[in-house]
Amino acid sequence: MSLAQRTEHLRPEGAYQVLARAQELEAGGADIIHLEIGEPNFATPANVSRAGIGAIAAGQTRYNPPSGMPGLREAIAEYAGKQRGIQVKSKQVIVGPGAKPILFFPTLALVNPGDEVIYPDPGFPTYEAMIGVAGGVPRPVPLKEEKQFSFDLQAFDGLLSHKTKLIILNSPSNPTGGVMPLADLQHIARLAIETDCWVLADEIYTHLVFDGVSAPSIAALPGMTERTIILDGFSKTYAMTGWRLGFGIMPEGLAERVGLLLTHSIGCTAHFTQVAGIEALTGPQDHVSMMVEQYQRRRDLLVDGLNQLPGVHCQKPQGAFYAFPNIRGTGKTSAELANLLLEHGVAVLPGSAFGGYGEGYLRIVFANSLENIGRALERMQEALTK
Ligand code: PMP
Repeated sequence: MSLAQRTEHLRPEGAYQVLARAQELEAGGADIIHLEIGEPNFATPANVSRAGIGAIAAGQTRYNPPSGMPGLREAIAEYAGKQRGIQVKSKQVIVGPGAKPILFFPTLALVNPGDEVIYPDPGFPTYEAMIGVAGGVPRPVPLKEEKQFSFDLQAFDGLLSHKTKLIILNSPSNPTGGVMPLADLQHIARLAIETDCWVLADEIYTHLVFDGVSAPSIAALPGMTERTIILDGFSKTYAMTGWRLGFGIMPEGLAERVGLLLTHSIGCTAHFTQVAGIEALTGPQDHVSMMVEQYQRRRDLLVDGLNQLPGVHCQKPQGAFYAFPNIRGTGKTSAELANLLLEHGVAVLPGSAFGGYGEGYLRIVFANSLENIGRALERMQEALTK
């Protein structure tokens, strides 16, 4: 079979692979605690589901504008702009089926073959995938554990050049839970302006922050709205992973191009899903604060427990729902340890699934019940002391 080169670099996402392996073991009777898939274990808020069901019953099941329904684009412009302290017009908003299209399509619209793209490592695997599909050259920046897993700025400065077209940021981060401090964003913004490159700010976890911390947006810094694509969505904040609804905010000229890519690829996002999205944004927000409160308690239980395991130490993540413990002291690679834990009934991901600099860590999801996290810690203790 002779296939085009542009997909040769693509690999499955680690989370789906471990999930498949865990499900195989479950089919053979094993009891597995799932801390591998990055997905809220809460149900979609009932008011949001009702709005979606009502829209289906009312026949809102047809084609609609490729860049999103005007009502949803307006609601996003207002809500997402207010949250970040910036003015957003609805023409700058692009709605897609999930946030992943907001990674792929702006990258396709901006990156020429041979252009360099800087992105976090460890980082969400889709970044490297989409850079390769666009023909870009991936330039991973290591994250620094002792700086809440923010960029190693010295390494960043060394990678940035006139060849850089795009810088990808992800704060709060998957897989580390780190929140980038304002000073780092200011440094990156200054250099992005100097070298005239774009920034894609993946802020999908921006509402999931703990200890009263907030995650600043680089888009709000002077001179940045005109060169930033903000990515956000409903999957994590409103526990809507399977509805497939996300959005991007970008300069109008780029939004038009991305709209055309959507026209000729996905066509449009389901109408009823967007009706549910309007309800999520404009309805009561107490569900979100309840989830954040629960995640914080689960984080504390998990991180305190991890820090008692031999050979493991773990920073307290300030956002998202991931702990990223350093496991070098166990003497095992991250894949070896993830396999050992799976044999003991706990599914987690090796840090190496998120890039070369993720070796020596595990990613553990705490979007699970306190009870399951407690049981998982007991199993990990057993696995590591045997
Ligand atoms: N960015 C990051 C950092 C993520 O973790 C995810 C989901 N795992 C996405 C984007 C994609 O979100 P969605 O499911 O809405 O496409």
